[in-house]
Amino acid sequence: MHYAHLPTGYITSKILFKKFEKTSVAYNAFISWGMFGSIAPDLDFVYSFIDQNHYHHHDYFTHFPLFWLSLILISSLWLRLDRHHRPNAALAFIFSLNGFIHMLLDTIAGYVIWFAPFADMNKPVTWAHYIPWDTGFLELFIFLWALYLWKENQILEIFSRLGSSLDLIE
Ligand SMILES: [Zn+2]
Repeated sequence: MHYAHLPTGYITSKILFKKFEKTSVAYNAFISWGMFGSIAPDLDFVYSFIDQNHYHHHDYFTHFPLFWLSLILISSLWLRLDRHHRPNAALAFIFSLNGFIHMLLDTIAGYVIWFAPFADMNKPVTWAHYIPWDTGFLELFIFLWALYLWKENQILEIFSRLGSSLDLIE
């Protein structure tokens, strides 16, 4: 995936926000931490750059699905056990969830070693061969979906204006 990670983080966070209302988490913080989680796995680019690219950046722990699953588990427990419903548990959860979704998207567009570090690091998993269309279309679809969620009211207004102006022509 090239540019779809951030929009995916936005979509997931926006859709799930209502589920966390009782934690009194702020909307902007929730969306920001969600979007940060969606690109956090790629921060290993920095490390692979320092390391002179001896390894593909997907070989680092930030691209290990088990790492993100563990974070999801820990943050879910935190959410459940925190009787005061503090916002931090919700932020940790949306951050971890979007990190994990990054793994799914990278498996579609590239490869991920799903059971790393317990798996053969030379046997990455990819779904790219099973997808009949170019993954660029998927990225475009995600981007347009996020744009729609972001500017929903304006987009609907444009269409209703367009609709009414077409009525005038007829
Ligand atoms: Zn990645």
